[in-house]
Amino acid sequence: MHRILFLFLTVFFIASAEAAEVRSPEEYLGFPIGADRKLADYNEVMGYLDELAAGSPWVETETIGTTTLGRPFIMAVLSTPDNLSNLSRYKEISRKLADPRGLPAGEAEQLIKEGKTFVLITCNLHSTEIASAQAALELAYEIASGENDMARNALEETVLFLIPSLNPDGLQMVVDWYEKWVGTEYEGCEMPWLYHHYVGHDNNRDWFMVNLAETRAVFEVYFDTVIPHVVLDMHQMWSTGARLFLPQFYPPANVNVDPILYREIGLLGYAMQLECEERDLAGVISDAYFTAYWEGTSMMTPWWHNQVGLLSEAASCRVATPVYIDEVELEGGSKGFPRYEHRINFPNPWPGGWWRLRDIVDYELAIADGLLDCCARHNERFLRNFYAMGARAVAQGKNEPPYGFVIPAPQDDPVTAARMIEAFMLGGVEVHEAVKDFMIGNRLYRAGSYVIRLDQPYRAYAKDLLEVQEYPDIRASEKEDFVRPYDVTGWTLPMQMGIACEEIDEPFEAELRLLENYPYAEHALPRENENIWGFALDPRINASYAAAFALLENGHTVLRADEELALGEDALPAGALLVQSRKGLTDDARALSRDLHAIFHPVTGESAAAARRLKPVKTALFKPWRASMDEGWTRYLFDTHLVPYENVTNEQIKEGEIGDYDALVLADISPDIIKKGEWTGEYARFSRPMPPDYEGGIEDEGVENIKKFVAGGGTLICFGRSCDFAIEALELPVRNVLEKAGPDDFYAPGSILEVAFREGHPVTYGMAGKGHVFFTNSPAFATSLPFGKFDRSILAAYEKKNPLASGLLIGPERLYRRAALVEMTYDRGKVLLFGFRPQHRCQTAGTYKLIFNALLESGRK
Ligand SMILES: [Zn+2]
Repeated sequence: MHRILFLFLTVFFIASAEAAEVRSPEEYLGFPIGADRKLADYNEVMGYLDELAAGSPWVETETIGTTTLGRPFIMAVLSTPDNLSNLSRYKEISRKLADPRGLPAGEAEQLIKEGKTFVLITCNLHSTEIASAQAALELAYEIASGENDMARNALEETVLFLIPSLNPDGLQMVVDWYEKWVGTEYEGCEMPWLYHHYVGHDNNRDWFMVNLAETRAVFEVYFDTVIPHVVLDMHQMWSTGARLFLPQFYPPANVNVDPILYREIGLLGYAMQLECEERDLAGVISDAYFTAYWEGTSMMTPWWHNQVGLLSEAASCRVATPVYIDEVELEGGSKGFPRYEHRINFPNPWPGGWWRLRDIVDYELAIADGLLDCCARHNERFLRNFYAMGARAVAQGKNEPPYGFVIPAPQDDPVTAARMIEAFMLGGVEVHEAVKDFMIGNRLYRAGSYVIRLDQPYRAYAKDLLEVQEYPDIRASEKEDFVRPYDVTGWTLPMQMGIACEEIDEPFEAELRLLENYPYAEHALPRENENIWGFALDPRINASYAAAFALLENGHTVLRADEELALGEDALPAGALLVQSRKGLTDDARALSRDLHAIFHPVTGESAAAARRLKPVKTALFKPWRASMDEGWTRYLFDTHLVPYENVTNEQIKEGEIGDYDALVLADISPDIIKKGEWTGEYARFSRPMPPDYEGGIEDEGVENIKKFVAGGGTLICFGRSCDFAIEALELPVRNVLEKAGPDDFYAPGSILEVAFREGHPVTYGMAGKGHVFFTNSPAFATSLPFGKFDRSILAAYEKKNPLASGLLIGPERLYRRAALVEMTYDRGKVLLFGFRPQHRCQTAGTYKLIFNALLESGRK
């Protein structure tokens, strides 16, 4: 009797502790996960996970940050109740294994035996790729309720960190938009704005510059608070190819990634494929589509940190609307998959038919289980390799060149240099400052120079971002097709940001201090007194412009010196910005100095005498309804540099509501989108109708109004492809020399090029004579001699036979002696043609000044 009672009590106890009172997603949401046309929004995702955490000892939730639009950014943590109660110990183990310096192998082995593999699954970074945010709820429920033995067993040896959406704002926007149109002819249509407030799909291109609030929060998880060993980022791709991509990736590979890492990517990729095959989920492909080379995405950044990064890409339905795919619509045609047919990397072709949200959820649940299972089976191995890769990195940095990189003092723009160092520190890289002058060979470096030593665990990351990229040509011969990169090919940060940086190829000694804080220098502001006329701001420093915009906006008197400005024993180059003392200036200057790190130099009235006064500038930024990421990045640049602006739409330009602005900015947007609001040519079949309020472009009326705007004294500023629009619309006597070049004649898919800037022009104030620009599908110009209402100034040109500085450039001769940046005068106004991307993904801080100058000078009528 006692025994029976005991058993009964035990069963009852287990039942209440484990099955607890957790509701299924269906009970919570009112529909099953993956049901046609049904989506959980972000509030429901948060609410449901919190409910699971309250009801189950297998689930916890935490807030890892705040999103761009102010939402809580959440992560669930799932493991056995025992593991969760020891989580801080396991985190400590991961932190110790990440840095083998001072951790002898014997001690490491103890930690490896004790530790657990940390698996981070991230979902829904791209908000329309929505299935994973839904699948996350079902996965968490299966674990909490005890329905999923495979995952529960695996969690004995692992801890699962689950971020249900890497872009919560976007998830909410996409669900709201989808629900608005469901049941109408626009069901599943594109949103007319980006699904991230600033950058849309480019939120997966921010993973070394760390501009966005969301990236920053996850960087803390990656390199500080959690330090996962395995990361899987779940995406969706186009509808008509394979059903699911899983690693291994397609060549080329990146030489800085540890070879063990690529093998682990393969092991886990194939384990997930096997799990799909065992569940008879057809159409899984590997070794195709996606390359393993470049920096910038959420799941690749871990590679240079000895952490496994994995990608899954499921075929999409139309948000939550099923699609029917005829078998003849299935197609290959990409890397590793020339035709849609049975292959070794595609042994179970999907035959076509209906494809629904639920199908994607099923594939994603399978790969989550397969991943956890394989990680658990190899728990010690993953931890041991994690430690070994870190140890190998440290040894390589000690024993082979490069030994480090020096960012020598002084820098033209010390604030931007500090921003670069901040990005490295966020990425877990140690940065030192020289306490005293030091020599390497016969080169003298001053105290205050920054040094990134490479004998550190994240050597690969620092090296890959600091060195010059050479895109590998992996063909057997030139007869084969060139393997096109997936994204950019050059990302060398000092070049993009205009920072001097030198590679050190011999062992060196220097007295160094490890930086604990980002090295933004504090500059004391002198008190106002009668001897000071006001302050000067250095035109080489981006923050000076941000300060000038803010001061103009606050009604201060801001002037510009067109000559060199003497400053005691020193001098500022032409273009210095001056602000005259008056009540309230010191407070404003102090705030700008604190928030933006702007540096104010006191000046006398004498030095200000020859300066000319600047007016506040009214800027319009065109925002098409076919949302543009480059427009979004421009907004990000303006918001972070205090440029006052307003967005203008097609309708406003058509109605002629741009006459009051000084400048109209067109980001890198295709002329078809500007004029008609739709793709033409080969992309036309991807254009789906928009709801009537968002259809069309600026049309002929808009073109006429832009002509009037410029003729009347406005400044039109065009980046990249919008230059082609301006050349045609205003019939400018300038030609894009790359317009007719085929992809085999000319190709520069995101490369850094060297240009010569023409000094002494207000738009190039603050720039050095030579510099770097970021070039991707950009134009280059042949100009004509002036006549009539036209004149031109070439402000930057390609003067080297091969201007490639980092990345890939096929056909350099087409750029030789061509213009990269042109200012055209047109009647009373001007057009600035940027034949490159001056604010690309807000990484190219080295060319921001050109934009700021163009804006400041547009106030000059
Ligand atoms: Zn994606």
